[in-house]
Amino acid sequence: MIRNVAILGATGSIGTSALEVIEKYPDRFSIWGLTSHTRTENCCAMIKKFRPKTVAVSSEMIGDVGGFLTDGFGSVALLEGDQGINTIAAADEVDIVIAGIAGAAGFASTVSAIRAGKKVLIANKEPLVMLGGLLRKLVAESGAQIVPIDSEHNAIFQCLPKAAQVDCMSGGIDKGQGLLRHGVRRIILTASGGPFLNTPLDGMSDITPDQAAAHPRWTMGRKISIDSATMMNKGLEIVEACVLFGVSPQDIEVVIHPESIVHSLVEYLDGSIVAQLANPDMRVPIAAALADPERIESGVERLDLVRAGQLNFQNPDDRKFPCLAIARQAAEAGGAAPIVLNAANEVAVNAFCAGRLRFTDIPDFIQCALDKFCDRTADDLISITRLDQLVRETLQNRLDAGATSLQQMVAGY
Ligand code: MG
Repeated sequence: MIRNVAILGATGSIGTSALEVIEKYPDRFSIWGLTSHTRTENCCAMIKKFRPKTVAVSSEMIGDVGGFLTDGFGSVALLEGDQGINTIAAADEVDIVIAGIAGAAGFASTVSAIRAGKKVLIANKEPLVMLGGLLRKLVAESGAQIVPIDSEHNAIFQCLPKAAQVDCMSGGIDKGQGLLRHGVRRIILTASGGPFLNTPLDGMSDITPDQAAAHPRWTMGRKISIDSATMMNKGLEIVEACVLFGVSPQDIEVVIHPESIVHSLVEYLDGSIVAQLANPDMRVPIAAALADPERIESGVERLDLVRAGQLNFQNPDDRKFPCLAIARQAAEAGGAAPIVLNAANEVAVNAFCAGRLRFTDIPDFIQCALDKFCDRTADDLISITRLDQLVRETLQNRLDAGATSLQQMVAGY
């Protein structure tokens, strides 16, 4: 049976990797829908190659893509903007949705796919961080299936017993029971350490956006690359693991593993630690999730253990990467805190990229937002979206009002 796939964020790094896997299996998967926000040329090339039934693009792209479609692709429906993306995510014809839109921009479409009961392969961690415990409720209502393709969480998923995988797919394991009933003692998330693993503490404040975006192991979008440089990416992944696997933050350890070969590990009560290893390439978790419970070729070079040689592990440096502890506290606090954390981080990353915050200001900026907003209530879709917007607008207004220092930025909150 051929399964219809929709790729949200098709021209991004997740979308491109997914299409490389899918094109190897025309007898298993068909691309029904694609969405693209920028990169008109890539989008048109994908339409030509995969002949999707429906495409959604941003309003900036719609003229050019529309013009391309009139040149002999008349059967492709063209939709515009967020509404178009949500329509594709929830379309009756679609079996599998790959959610690869970075940042909170991917929230509404991921929620649409979940509510429509799809098998949702979630690469973008922001919707999971924002939904928290609501994920389980939404999945229970719709019968959707969740499979993480964030490489660490997919690794954990692969290391879990089948019964725990089934629990996870049905919307995150219930926190009351957690992974303990499956014999799991703790989860170990690996982190590459990013580009500044060996940068001295006093060199961190001069870091430029281009330096921060140059990840040593993974080729990814700008937002997630900068999150990796601050280690907020790993912080958000702590929250993500709590949501997906029903564990508490204290049951999650983060270790630096610069080679990025071991993608995460699960420790069982008997002392066994099960790990997933592969060359660092997103096609591995995507292929595993697409074919689950079967296995298919991903096209990724096989891991040569002897050539990989030494695998190193070390503790993260909390002074250099304060975002990690801030995120862990937000995960422990729960409620509104992860939503505030996520929104403030996204504003901070954009401000850093625009030269308005120093690299070392990012954690303070986020902490100030948490202090201000974390006692709000956000327990349904409307209140989550409202809080997300409130945090963004408040912080952005400060920046736009010409605040030139962090103190000015957060004064009078
Ligand atoms: Mg990851």
